[in-house]
Amino acid sequence: MNKALRKAVIAGNWKMNKTPSEAKALLNEIAPLVKDADCEVVACVPYVDLTTAVEAVKGTNIKIGAENAHWEEKGAFTGEISTGMLKEVGVEYVVLGHSERRQYFGETDETVNKRTKAVLKAGLKPIVCVGELLWERECNITEEVIARQIKLDFYDVTAEDMKNVVIAYEPVWAIGTGKTATADQAEEVCAFIRATLAKLYSKEVADGVTIQYGGSMNDGNAAELLSKEDVDGGLIGGASLVAEKFAAIVSAASK
Ligand code: PEP
Repeated sequence: MNKALRKAVIAGNWKMNKTPSEAKALLNEIAPLVKDADCEVVACVPYVDLTTAVEAVKGTNIKIGAENAHWEEKGAFTGEISTGMLKEVGVEYVVLGHSERRQYFGETDETVNKRTKAVLKAGLKPIVCVGELLWERECNITEEVIARQIKLDFYDVTAEDMKNVVIAYEPVWAIGTGKTATADQAEEVCAFIRATLAKLYSKEVADGVTIQYGGSMNDGNAAELLSKEDVDGGLIGGASLVAEKFAAIVSAASK
């Protein structure tokens, strides 16, 4: 399968930004700008914004995502949110294993794997983030790091379930820093992820998985990054909070 047959997914990761009323205002601004998009458009928003966001995008082509989900269905997990809760409010995507969760909240590949399986079991679509630290790139072990994350994060995930998976390659050194990977660097690792999936599953499975690039993607660099054969979309932080910038990235992915 070539790039043209895969679904491009442009997802905003709002992180800890926007109150519910601000979320509604931003989505109302984005919606008319992306209405003709020829790609999947997703806004991943803070938990307390989800209900308002789902309501705000009714009748539009924008899908709503959460920024994490717990692996248990319910129980004594103070501060956590279950997949059932997300489903009931109308969420479709869930960001998992973001480097900020790994760095600040003790997320490991083992917990990313548990969350990924729970999200898939609930019929939601995980956007699983992988990426190397600057130090790991400098030590020339990017491929080892990425292969390890892919093997662990998708341990015991079936080939059938891989049809609903989105992978975001996010070099940690490029997130929120303004330092973008070059289009060639992004392509090299996204192609490596696909080759790793081909070994673990099959070429057919690997060819069907949407692989995004994330890390300071913006309206100025999106077109070049998205032109690469194995870069099927973007996970966008900062630029997703500005309607015109986010819409320009969506438009770059729609060409
Ligand atoms: C992100 O949060 O996933 C991200 C890529 O952030 P930024 O675009 O701001 O680098």
